[in-house]
Amino acid sequence: MVAHHFSHVRYWVFDLDNTLYGPEARLFDQIEVRMTEWVMRALGVDRAEADRLRRDYWRRYGTTLAGLMAEHDVDPEPYLLDVHEIDLGALDPDPDLAAAVRALPGRRLVYTNGSAPYARRVLEARGLDGAFDAVYGVEHAGFLPKPERAAFEAVFALDRVAPEEAAMFEDDARNLAAPHAMGLRTVLVTPEPQAADHIHHHTDDLAGFLSQIGRGLFP
Ligand SMILES: [Mg+2]
Repeated sequence: MVAHHFSHVRYWVFDLDNTLYGPEARLFDQIEVRMTEWVMRALGVDRAEADRLRRDYWRRYGTTLAGLMAEHDVDPEPYLLDVHEIDLGALDPDPDLAAAVRALPGRRLVYTNGSAPYARRVLEARGLDGAFDAVYGVEHAGFLPKPERAAFEAVFALDRVAPEEAAMFEDDARNLAAPHAMGLRTVLVTPEPQAADHIHHHTDDLAGFLSQIGRGLFP
C-alpha cells in the first residue's frame, strides 16, 4: 500500500511537461525545433551547431536557456515566449487526472522549467485548469532551472512549501535529486522504471497512482 508514504504530505508539487501529459504528445519535439532556431538566430550558427550547443547546455546547465544566459547573456523573456509558441492540439482533457489531483489534501502546485503562462495553456488543454492552487515557472526562480537546488528553494519559499511535508512528481530523474535531499517524497513519472537512491516511487500512470493515494488516505 503506497498511501501511507504520503499521509504526511500537504504540498503536492508537479512538473508539467511529460508529467501532467504523456510523452506521446511529443510537445518537446516542437519546442526543441524552436529552441534550435532561436540559437541559430541569436548566435549566428547553423542548425547542426545549434543542436549541438542545445544538447551541451541541457547537459551542463539543466536547460538550453540556462546555458544561453550563462554563456551568451541571452534575455530570457523573449526566448521563453518564442520557444513556447507551439501547437497544443496533441493534448486531450484528462478528467481522471483532474479528479485525482483535486482530491489531494493540501496545496497542489505546478513547477516547470518552462514559463508559467505556457504551463497555464497546457493545463487548460488538459482540462486541469483550476485543479492547482499555483503555477510556477522558471521565471519564479530568477530563471535558474531545476535541477539546481537553489531553484527549488526559491519556488518553495514563494509558496511557503514545507519540504518535509511535500511530494514531487517528475519525469526527469535529475530533477528529483534536490527535492529528495531537501526531504520531499519523490515520484518518477515515466514509461520505464529507473532505479536511483533519490527516487522513492515510480509510476507510468499518474492518475492511477494519485487515485491509489487518495483511496488509501480517505478509504
Ligand atoms: Mg518534465
